[in-house]
Amino acid sequence: MSTGTEKPTSSYTSLKAADRKDFRDHISTADQEGRRKWLYASQPKGRFYRARTWVAWFLIGVMFGGPFVNLNGNPLLMINIVERKFSVLGVIFWPQDNLVFALGFLLFLMGIAVFTAAFGRLWCGWTCPQTVMMEMVFRKLEYLIEGSATQQKILNRGPWTANKMGKKAAKHLIFFGLSFVIGNTLLAYIIGIDALKQIVTDDPRQHLSGLTFMALFTFVFYAIFARFREQACTFICPYGRFQSTLLDENTIVVAYDYKRGEKRGPLRRAETIEQRSQRSTGDCIDCFKCVTVCPTGIDIRNGTQMECVNCTACIDACDDVMDKIRRPRGLIRFASLNGIEKGQPIHVTPRIVGYCAILILLGLGLMALLLTRSEVDVSLLRAPGALFQQAPDGKVSNLYLLKLTNKTHHEVPVELRLEGIEGSLTVLGGQLNLPAEKQSDASVLMVIPPDTLRSGQTPISVGIYSSGKRIDHINTVFIGPRK
Ligand code: SF4
Ligand code: SF4
Repeated sequence: MSTGTEKPTSSYTSLKAADRKDFRDHISTADQEGRRKWLYASQPKGRFYRARTWVAWFLIGVMFGGPFVNLNGNPLLMINIVERKFSVLGVIFWPQDNLVFALGFLLFLMGIAVFTAAFGRLWCGWTCPQTVMMEMVFRKLEYLIEGSATQQKILNRGPWTANKMGKKAAKHLIFFGLSFVIGNTLLAYIIGIDALKQIVTDDPRQHLSGLTFMALFTFVFYAIFARFREQACTFICPYGRFQSTLLDENTIVVAYDYKRGEKRGPLRRAETIEQRSQRSTGDCIDCFKCVTVCPTGIDIRNGTQMECVNCTACIDACDDVMDKIRRPRGLIRFASLNGIEKGQPIHVTPRIVGYCAILILLGLGLMALLLTRSEVDVSLLRAPGALFQQAPDGKVSNLYLLKLTNKTHHEVPVELRLEGIEGSLTVLGGQLNLPAEKQSDASVLMVIPPDTLRSGQTPISVGIYSSGKRIDHINTVFIGPRK
C-alpha cells in the first residue's frame, strides 16, 4: 500500500502517467507557494453518509452525556490530572496503579495496531471525535448557513454585503458557542462535572486557573473547527503516519477499483453506456465527484494516501454516479489491494492472528491485574532525617510515615501489625478508618527490644489487616545501634 510518499507500486502502473500526475509531490490543501488552499467539500449523500450520521449522533450523545453519567457514585470517565485521580467505567484508579495504566496503554496501542492492520483508518472517518464533530456538526451547520460547497465558494469570493456579513457572523457565533460547549465538556472529563459546576457558579476570582483553561479550550476548538479543519488529521495527528507501517495488501481500505475504472474518460453527450464501452474505456467517467466530496481534498483514484480518513464520502458519490450511468456500484468500495488486484476474498492473515494473540495476552494480563488489585495501597517509609531513639530500658524506636490509599467505594478500617518480630507498633492518632476513595497519612512508631535487633539495620515485615483479615503486607527496615 502506498502512503503517498514512496514510489508508485505495481497497483498503479496501469494508470496513465498523466493520471498519476504529481499528486505525491504536494498536499491537496496548499498551493504552489505553500499557501492554504481552502477546501469546499460537497455534502455527500448516500447509504454510508446516512449510516455515519446515525453513528455520529450516538457518539455525540455518549461524548456529551459522559460527564453526567455516574457509576458506583463515580464519573464514567474522568482524567483528573490535577488531583491525580482517574475514573474508568466508575472505578477509581490512582497513580499507584501504574502497572494497570501501563498495561492498559499497551493494550490500547495494540488494539489500534490490530484494528488498523485489518480495517485501515476506519476509526478516523467514523468515530474520531475530530471527524465526527467536523463533518457531522460544524460542516452540516456550514451547509445550513452558507449553502452548498459552490454557494460557499461564491460567498467567500464575493464582496462584503450585508447578507455575507450576516451569514459569517451567524456561523462564527454558533461555531464559537459550540466550541465553548466542547471545551467545557473536555474540562468536565478532566476535573469532573462537580468541579466544573463550581467553577461556573462560584466567584470567578476563586477559579482563575479553571476559567483560563475553559477559555483556552474554547479558542483551540474554535480555531480547529473554524479554520484548521482537515489539517488536524493530515498535519497534527500521528495516526495517519502509522499507516505505512500497519497497512499491507490485505488491509481493507476505501479503494478505487482501477481494473474496472481504467481507462477513465468522460461520458460524451448523447452517448449511451454501451457505445462508451465500445471505446474500450473503463467505468470511471472522470466526473471528479469523488474528489469534490473528499474532506481532505484527495483523489482516491491515485491509490491509498496518508490523507484518506476512510470517511466513505467518495464511495457514496461514486455509487450515485454508477447508478446514473447504469453500471454496478462499488467502483470505489471497501476492499484490499489483493482483493482488487488479484480478486482475492477478504481473509485473516497470519499477521492479524499474531497481533490478536498479543492482544489477548495483554487483555488477560490486565484482567488478572484488575482482579488481584489490592483494595488498599500502603507505603511505609522511614521519617526523613530521623535516626533511631533508645529508651533507658534499652528499647529502640523508629518513626515512619504511613501513606494509605483506599481504592474501594466504602470505608475500610485498617490495622497494622508487626510480623515475625517482637515489639510494638503504634499508629499515632489512633484507629485508621479510611474513607472511601481517599488517601490518608499518619505517623507510625515502632518499638523493638534490642536483643531481637541485628546490628545496624533489621528487615521488618508489617501486615496490613482489615476487619481481622490480612489484606497486604509491606517490608521495610528498622535502624538500631551497631553491636
Ligand atoms: S466518482 Fe466514480 S466515476 Fe466519477 S471520477 Fe470518481 S471514480 Fe470516476
Ligand atoms: S478519499 Fe474518500 S474515504 Fe478517503 S477521505 Fe477522501 S472521501 Fe473520505
